[in-house]
Amino acid sequence: MSDCLFCKIINKTIPAEVVYEDEQVVAFLDINPVNPGHTLVVPKEHKEFFWELGANSCGPVSLVIQKIMNVLVHDLGYEGVNLIQNNGPASGQVIPHVHFHVIPRKSGDGHAHWRGAAYEAGEQAMMAEKIKAVLKF
Ligand code: 5GP
Ligand code: ZN
Repeated sequence: MSDCLFCKIINKTIPAEVVYEDEQVVAFLDINPVNPGHTLVVPKEHKEFFWELGANSCGPVSLVIQKIMNVLVHDLGYEGVNLIQNNGPASGQVIPHVHFHVIPRKSGDGHAHWRGAAYEAGEQAMMAEKIKAVLKF
């Protein structure tokens, strides 16, 4: 897609600190990291949402995510990693090209966890039924 920022990075029309690239995937440093080394793993296929992504991208993307996580924890000394993937503005997605945030973490780095809230009585089972009723493989 010609007006997509991440397609432009993939096509090298705008620069990025690329740490890995193959036929299906590119990984580069986020310009505004939570912590240094925060990496975006991006399928080259232009799709807006993860559920649209082809199987030939999903597998390779997962392997690259694992490799980057390994480096951050086992070579660069981070204590943990968050894997975050936003879909749609309500979730915080700003760039409409599928990408995975691989975020290196240290205890006390100040990045907050999400806030959970308990289900009302019976609500959890009802939600599970709703999902199972329409889930297809
Ligand atoms: P989203 O909110 O869509 O999940 O995340 C988009 C991410 O892309 C943000 O973390 C933002 O810092 C990063 N980003 C935005 N523009 C650029 C850019 O031009 N280069 C790089 N390397 N990252 C960018
Ligand atoms: Zn794109």
